[in-house]
Amino acid sequence: MVERMTLIEKIDQWATTSPEQLCFKGTKSYTYSQLKTDSDGLAAYLEEAHANQEPIIVYGGLEYEMIVSFLACSKSGHAYIPIDSHTPADRVALIAEVADYTAIIAWEDWPLADAQGLLTAEAALDEMATGACPQGKGVNGDDNYYLIFTSGTTGVPKGVQISHDNLVSYTDWMLQEFGLKTGQVFLSQAPYSFDLSVMDIYPALLSGGQLSPLKKELVNDFKGLFTELPKLAINVWVSTPSFADVCLMDPRFNGEENPSITHFLFCGEELAHSTASKLSQRFPKAHIYNTYGPTEATVAVTEIEITQDVLERYQRLPIGRVKADTAIYIMDEAGQVLPEGQVGEIVIVGPSVSKGYYHNPEKTAEAFYDYQGKQAYKTGDGGMMEEDLLFYKGRMDFQIKLHGYRIELEDIDHHLGEVSYVKAAAVVPKYVDHKVQQLVAYIVPEEHSFEKEYQLSKAIKEELRKTVMDYMVPQKYLYVDALPLTQNGKVDRKGLINEVNGS
Ligand code: AMP
Repeated sequence: MVERMTLIEKIDQWATTSPEQLCFKGTKSYTYSQLKTDSDGLAAYLEEAHANQEPIIVYGGLEYEMIVSFLACSKSGHAYIPIDSHTPADRVALIAEVADYTAIIAWEDWPLADAQGLLTAEAALDEMATGACPQGKGVNGDDNYYLIFTSGTTGVPKGVQISHDNLVSYTDWMLQEFGLKTGQVFLSQAPYSFDLSVMDIYPALLSGGQLSPLKKELVNDFKGLFTELPKLAINVWVSTPSFADVCLMDPRFNGEENPSITHFLFCGEELAHSTASKLSQRFPKAHIYNTYGPTEATVAVTEIEITQDVLERYQRLPIGRVKADTAIYIMDEAGQVLPEGQVGEIVIVGPSVSKGYYHNPEKTAEAFYDYQGKQAYKTGDGGMMEEDLLFYKGRMDFQIKLHGYRIELEDIDHHLGEVSYVKAAAVVPKYVDHKVQQLVAYIVPEEHSFEKEYQLSKAIKEELRKTVMDYMVPQKYLYVDALPLTQNGKVDRKGLINEVNGS
């Protein structure tokens, strides 16, 4: 059997074929040649100092040195755990407790007293500069490549284990399906602790591309954001749809000001029809893709290009076709496969599905199982197949009942988002005695000429009634400048629910 090159070997090849090609451009620029030397040096140290296969925490922001550290972990046979430096210390502590790590590489001040194997930025920079090389082959096959922690229902984060081969299945698909050329500039906006970042890091590094980070501080500075964006000369845009919505608020976010953008790759939450159609108007030459998947199946497993035809045909956009090495089944509660057209839970079966949650057999058993000899993951997402296209039908756990009627909150959001006075919306339930008493809509309004808010609310209700059942029309409207986002750039619905319910 021909032995396949590992991901690390493939990335390192660029240092041989195009050593001066840039791999990262932040405040400073870095080449593939430097990336190899730096990651080799750090890997040699890790191999020597931690001759085990335990994971290593890598702590910091969107920095070149973080990427060096990830590669160094892989080269020295360790999985890495990316923790963004904006993470509250209490949450870092919870992750560290589950992780049972052997070392920490901290590019910013490590926030905990517990600091086993801590390598500070200064010490890590010294190791990067030694010119040494690791001796082993590094992470391969079923070895864990990274662990990404996601929030757990019990409040303790769950560490999703992604193996080298899980990642290979994902990146092979990315590099084949999206028409990406080599040497492209990728937007790197998602924190490295969010698996959406894997959609830029590895496709970029495997195709001799360049990562262009857009830091949180800049994202929060509206003025700076729009003067900086065109300077980044991005080709491949990777973000949540929510971040694109933020950018669309500025009229300068268009193809003329940003002519280099050829691809928009979205994942992580529903891509609203209004977002996609605005983008296609502003960037008529760019390709817009909706992709779907949970961290547990390595970033994404379905894709569809949102063309004019798709926009015309579907009011709620499909999430696409499943990648060739994977199967998606729509199942009922008993695990029976449902026929086309019926709504059930999306179950993903294939080689990019994780082996489970790190050190958490209970949660692993709840969500992962063997289906006909292959690894399967129950997503908790509602879905429906129509021909070979998958449609997302909302989280099964944001379903509510109001006066006995069954309602998907995302369903209302979707239709509210289509109302002409509404830029973005999120609806949350207000509870009394554990029962939903009313629906509260948070609205980012379009510009309007109403004098009073109640007049605007009345107009919104009237238009909304045209597309949803009466009982789905929210009773209360709160107007905001922007919807709050979680660390990962999704609408923070849970935060809004807490706000509305005073908890
Ligand atoms: P995460 O593990 O943070 O990537 O979140 C995964 C979840 O985000 C999925 O289970 C879905 O509920 C949601 N999601 C991801 N992509 C999409 C999409 N394209 N459309 C709708 N929901 C999505």
